[in-house]
Amino acid sequence: MRQIDGRCHCGNISYEFLWPEPGSQIPVRACSCSFCIKHGAVYTSHPDSQLTAQISDPAVVNKYSFDTKTADFYVCASCGAVPFATSKIESNEYAVVNVNTFEGVDRTEFDSTVTDFAGERVGDRLDRRKRKWIPRVTIETKRTR
Ligand SMILES: [Zn+2]
Repeated sequence: MRQIDGRCHCGNISYEFLWPEPGSQIPVRACSCSFCIKHGAVYTSHPDSQLTAQISDPAVVNKYSFDTKTADFYVCASCGAVPFATSKIESNEYAVVNVNTFEGVDRTEFDSTVTDFAGERVGDRLDRRKRKWIPRVTIETKRTR
């Protein structure tokens, strides 16, 4: 496993992402939904990967959802970055991580495609996430108010 560290711009949200295919290019998808275009978010995931996130101050993290309301986008309210999004399906939390919040990963390691999931039925969307998204997700909070 390759450990990739990432964080939002101010560091309120940080994470370790375990990528199971070290040495291979990381497939990344520029989501073409209006939210991700506006945020410039580009995601990756792998069914054998793992995400462990730490949130320093949850009071300055907004969980934003829209449209089908099946995913929560973690938006740092301090710096505006979107490090990852999660989706709870049958009591398991799945995630995709925004490669633009990786630290120390060269962009030549990314293999980019553009995706468009508009019009996908909700059931198909959840099935796709179960197959492709990060299935082991831990979000730790350092401080609560
Ligand atoms: Zn931030």
